[in-house]
Amino acid sequence: MDLLKTKAFLNENKISYLENEPMNTHCSFKTGGNADIFVAANSVDDVKNIIDFCRETNTPLTVIGNGSNLLVSDRGIEGIILSLTELNKAEVDQNTLTLQSGISLSRACLLALENSLTGLEFAYGIPGSIGGAVYMNAGAYGGEMADIIVSATVLTPTGNIITIEKGGMELGYRTSIFKTKGYIILSAKFCLEKGEKTEIKAKMDELMNRRRDKQPLQYPSAGSTFKRPKGHFAGALIEQAGLKGSTVGGAMVSEKHAGFIINYNDATTDNIVDLIKYVKKSVKEKFGIELEKEIIYIGRK
Ligand code: FAD
Repeated sequence: MDLLKTKAFLNENKISYLENEPMNTHCSFKTGGNADIFVAANSVDDVKNIIDFCRETNTPLTVIGNGSNLLVSDRGIEGIILSLTELNKAEVDQNTLTLQSGISLSRACLLALENSLTGLEFAYGIPGSIGGAVYMNAGAYGGEMADIIVSATVLTPTGNIITIEKGGMELGYRTSIFKTKGYIILSAKFCLEKGEKTEIKAKMDELMNRRRDKQPLQYPSAGSTFKRPKGHFAGALIEQAGLKGSTVGGAMVSEKHAGFIINYNDATTDNIVDLIKYVKKSVKEKFGIELEKEIIYIGRK
């Protein structure tokens, strides 16, 4: 990438940026190197300008939300890292929530509660943004984004803004058309149902307590490291393979929940990657099952 040209473009367009920004402050694993250029976009226009610039100049671009499903390379990230967490407007119209992609799932859940709307409780405690959650089709406790989403407004890699209805989203287990086509989600519309505030709150509290009981939330992680293999649970396979508590450097297979790899003591991303490889190899040898990563590695190889 041409750093001088990139900085000149950002300055000309009055887009604030940080150079050599440590990414461990922007991801829940708290590991990884620096982003060459980090931009927290304030407007859809800024996002569109940046996409157009990156396409025209072949500048690498990586979009992030809350960084809660990411593993950032220790060697940093080339090009522009575009955070969308500042795009955070919300609208409530009867049973419909229209949320910009940077809104956190917890804020979205509290907004639904405030308006006595039920259907989003499953997402309470998932530490992602709306954009990241729609992209991943995030889910928990029997619910997923696919159950409530109506449409999403996206920027295509060619710089067009289009709206995709749910039927065109190809939502599956931790996948979507946004992931396969590289669309950037700007906002999404969700349809919920009228409910009883006390019941909604009770459900949210119950699910949060289940998370606190089962998950190693006191340590940095990116949630479940692996997808659920058909007919199995990754955590159970890892536990049965005797891998709980296994470590590489400062990375550990959580003693509390084997499905989580945690940064328990100043881990590097390479430590986590090596532990992932070790877990995959051990589970494959023991059960013949290929675990697939759910978390997403970004940055230099
Ligand atoms: P990021 O991690 O920032 O990004 C994830 C991917 O989405 C990246 O590829 C990024 O490029 C892309 N992306 C982000 N925003 C956009 C956008 N606006 N447009 C296009 N692409 C975008 N996940 C679950 O599904 N269920 C759980 O129960 C769950 N529990 C978790 C518990 C813990 C403690 C942690 C740390 C994580 C957990 N996760 C869970 C994982 C994670 O929170 C979800 O995957 C979440 O949806 C990711 O959102 P994010 O905003 O953090 O995305």
